[in-house]
Amino acid sequence: MQRLAIFGGTFDPIHWGHLLLAKTALAQLHLKQVIWVPSRNPPHKQAAVFEHRVSMLQLATKDNPMFTVSLIEREGSGTSFAINTLIDLSICYPNTHWYWIIGLDAFQTLPRWYRGHELAKMCDWLIAPRLVGGETIAQTELICKQVEQQFQEKSFTIHWQLLDTPVVRVSSTVIRELCSQGYSIRDLVPESVRLYIAKHNLYTNNSE
Ligand code: ATP
Repeated sequence: MQRLAIFGGTFDPIHWGHLLLAKTALAQLHLKQVIWVPSRNPPHKQAAVFEHRVSMLQLATKDNPMFTVSLIEREGSGTSFAINTLIDLSICYPNTHWYWIIGLDAFQTLPRWYRGHELAKMCDWLIAPRLVGGETIAQTELICKQVEQQFQEKSFTIHWQLLDTPVVRVSSTVIRELCSQGYSIRDLVPESVRLYIAKHNLYTNNSE
């Protein structure tokens, strides 16, 4: 059975933090591939045009043959839900043991996702530490165990493990803010992504 990971997100834009997580997951779990899945219409966020986010993902991942960008969420109308994405990808990639890469901030919200309890047991969760009050590994683990307990209380099992990465403070929000204030984002995103943002004038007050 092949081992694949889904990395879902808004990627508005993709940054070095995302790439570090994906590379760590590949190495730590001996995965065949990481499938990047940009949300077309994320339930909780307003985001830049889907095509721009996809283009930036493609630029940032094109040199790694173990990275694939999936457009599975492009079709359909309304909100894109993670459980539907996993069901659809399971049809495209049969005979797969699924992992899902997620930051601690997002993992904490999993019990409230649409059909989150069902989704939780359909894959193993690879959790990246992030500053949400979990500055140390022990605190991060404690937060994960609290989430696990919420599932157990409803008789659902969840399998998770921490990704062995340092906490990386970069976020897409910070990048968008720096762009809107005219600051450089040179060290926060791949150069191809930085050039794309500049060319298309993204995240400025006159954005496309
Ligand atoms: P925004 O700042 O717009 O909320 P983001 O930087 O969190 O964006 P997303 O595309 O929303 O990026 O993130 C996709 C996934 O990657 C989420 O699970 C998120 O928690 C995780 N993630 C993003 N950046 C980091 C980071 N620096 N450390 C750990 N996890 C991260």
